[in-house]
Amino acid sequence: MRLSKYFVPTLKEVPNDAVVTSHILMLRSGMIRMLSAGIYSFLPLGYRVVRKVSEIIREEMDAIGGQEFHLPALNPREIWEETNRVEAFGDTLFHIKNRDYVLAPTHEEIMTFHARNVVKSYKDMPQIWYQIQTKFRNEPRPRSGVIRGREFLMKDAYSFDVSREALDKSYELHDKAYRNIFDRCGLKYFVVGASSGAMGGSGSEEFMVKSSAGEDTVAYCESCGYAANVEVATSVVKSIERDKQNKAVYEISTPKVKSIDELCEFLKIEEEVCAKSRVYIHNGSAVLILMQGNDEVNESKLEKVLGGNVRSAHPEELLEITGADAGSIGPIGFKDRIISDLKLKDRNNLFSGANKNDYHIGGIDFIRDVKNNEYADLRIVQSGEGCLNCDKNLEVFSAIELGHIFKLGTKYSESMGAKFIDEKGEEHPIIMGSYGIGVERVMACFIEQNNDDKGIVWNKTLAPFDVHLIALNLKNDLVSNTSENIYSELKSNNLEVLFDDRDAAAGFKFNDADLLGMPIQIVIGEKKLKETKCEVKIRKTGERFDVELSELNDKIKELLDSIV
Ligand code: ATP
Ligand code: MG
Repeated sequence: MRLSKYFVPTLKEVPNDAVVTSHILMLRSGMIRMLSAGIYSFLPLGYRVVRKVSEIIREEMDAIGGQEFHLPALNPREIWEETNRVEAFGDTLFHIKNRDYVLAPTHEEIMTFHARNVVKSYKDMPQIWYQIQTKFRNEPRPRSGVIRGREFLMKDAYSFDVSREALDKSYELHDKAYRNIFDRCGLKYFVVGASSGAMGGSGSEEFMVKSSAGEDTVAYCESCGYAANVEVATSVVKSIERDKQNKAVYEISTPKVKSIDELCEFLKIEEEVCAKSRVYIHNGSAVLILMQGNDEVNESKLEKVLGGNVRSAHPEELLEITGADAGSIGPIGFKDRIISDLKLKDRNNLFSGANKNDYHIGGIDFIRDVKNNEYADLRIVQSGEGCLNCDKNLEVFSAIELGHIFKLGTKYSESMGAKFIDEKGEEHPIIMGSYGIGVERVMACFIEQNNDDKGIVWNKTLAPFDVHLIALNLKNDLVSNTSENIYSELKSNNLEVLFDDRDAAAGFKFNDADLLGMPIQIVIGEKKLKETKCEVKIRKTGERFDVELSELNDKIKELLDSIV
């Protein structure tokens, strides 16, 4: 492709309101343009990558027996009513005004609709149906480019099976296919099981990449691969031993002391000996939660322990329940239920609020003084804590979900009446799985992981072109003729070549080549040509060397094979 004729509007400056690296680089390299918040147009260079990612996904889905569909994005609303998902999606679902249509945010309903009509017997299964198709979601915060679009491409697949065991097989096939897809794309990813940790038996897995642009927070152990969303993540609890000398309870005047840090400063104590209080309301009753020092309450874990939703008590409620404001609340004299984090189990000589403004209590012994205390793992896991599997350090970071595989079971087949007849003539709901990958998100995540201060660093698999051929001064006949010859020769060798044949300064061309990030650059200039040579640069390493023109073809093939 000749850059003089190819529409690649590169930008020198960082565009306004782009903050995420991949977003900035995709705009700067002329791969995408924004139409409206969360809605992007792919320009020719960017669309080449979308096609490459899609092709890899297709190959791997076909390899596990997947059959490609193309379903309508415009769906009658009544089908979505069958599963109650008009309500479940709420504001995320786009509705067509004055018509009973919605724009599909995913396609479980539509695939189940087709299955209901054609998959009637156990003989009709297993089936794996997939598509690569546009989805619509009214995402509330579309600020990270194509990572979170309101319109985006998803590969969505659905499996239909006769039994749980058969579903396990379909699920395994997808798990393998997903690993192949992300490996082939060259992504560094990890897998979060929905049931990572204590629960066992996985019904869903999320394929994630570490990224500051991510909206999920995960705890990850580099050493054994343990990974879990912080909502459920656990870690080794290093609880402190009881003091040998047990003090009696005593009250301390602590004027204006509200936070744990202020308390530690005022009393010259360590935060480990403080029991921080939080009051929650669950089913209309108060529950006092005690955490060590500045440890934060993980509300998802708390909801699991209590069974149901919780909310923090309002300031007026706090005063009514405890007689004090936040910052002066504690277990001594607290009338309702008390649950403490495991780190505080059976501890003594602790400090906490006195349920009286501007007072704290010291010498608290949880065994002696807080008889109704219950214990549970309630902490938000933090970086540096020990992994439960291997005791190496956990790391907590933001991450993006690339893909998701999920054992649906009979959720959709039951609500939509998709049934089959088994060998004995009995009727059962079809057992389903669903499996999604965000195509543009894969591309953006690759860029998140592969860039430098000059631009994108593509690998051979996803690069829009293999080679970026730069002719330095086309007015010079030798340069012009030689680069034309090289361009044709490389192409006839089945290489994808982007040829910078623009009438522009060398520095401008070099900057664009680094920004666009093809794995190999070939520079044709008069000086080297006089020695029958040209310069080759590896984008990833920045390595440059001269290559004899007669050896160029072979050398480029060899280099590309070595670039992963
Ligand atoms: P997220 O938690 O990031 O919103 P999700 O759980 O809503 O993702 P799924 O419904 O499981 O995502 O969709 C399958 C895949 O589609 C995701 O793994 C992701 O790669 C992609 N995806 C989801 N929402 C978007 C979006 N708004 N823009 C781009 N890709 C998306
Ligand atoms: Mg979502």
